[in-house]
Amino acid sequence: MKIEKIVFATGNEGKMKEIRMILADLGVPVYSMKEAEIDIPIEENGTTFEENALIKATTICKELEKRGEAALVLADDSGLEVDYLNKEPGIYSARYMGEDTSYTIKNANIISRLEGVPDEKRTARFVCAIAMAFPNGVSKTTRGTIEGIIGYEEKGENGFGYDPIFYLPEYQCYSAELSPEEKNKISHRGKALEACKQEIKKYL
Ligand code: IMP
Repeated sequence: MKIEKIVFATGNEGKMKEIRMILADLGVPVYSMKEAEIDIPIEENGTTFEENALIKATTICKELEKRGEAALVLADDSGLEVDYLNKEPGIYSARYMGEDTSYTIKNANIISRLEGVPDEKRTARFVCAIAMAFPNGVSKTTRGTIEGIIGYEEKGENGFGYDPIFYLPEYQCYSAELSPEEKNKISHRGKALEACKQEIKKYL
């Protein structure tokens, strides 16, 4: 099976930039949903990051097949797991306290739920699962993680979402204090994408 086109199931331009950078040396064109002219509602009703990523990738792969445009479709699902909170917000990270609630409020809420909890129990990780749906019906997933601890206040101006409360002991800074290039190199998404690239290489 020859892969001539990759579609990444995201509407997020920032993610597309990062994805194109990492997959560039595969020499296969990578299209966003917008570029592939796909705009179909997908219900993310899985119970794990992998399931949600697979739902997105396979739905879009089938849609492209219907149009006679076979492509390898990639989709990701990611989130923050806080151990002390039984891995909340997890797959509900974007929906935590409501989709439209600001991250200033979401982050303050997580910090307050950890009040009095010592550093060693504030462990957390960002998780990213990427699903690959091949036109022949085969699908695979990869997972990348980055370990950290939940801080006591927001710090840093870069990144997004939960980055300002995610402290990286290994780098002695908050995720929101990393430059985009530094973050891509070590992030959950960067790692999952690299693993994905190694899989795709087997099919080229
Ligand atoms: P999505 O699956 O990429 O849409 O991400 C789900 C949610 O997880 C985001 O809306 C954020 O709340 C959180 N998240 C995922 N990756 C990151 C990250 O790198 N930094 C901060 N928050 C993240």
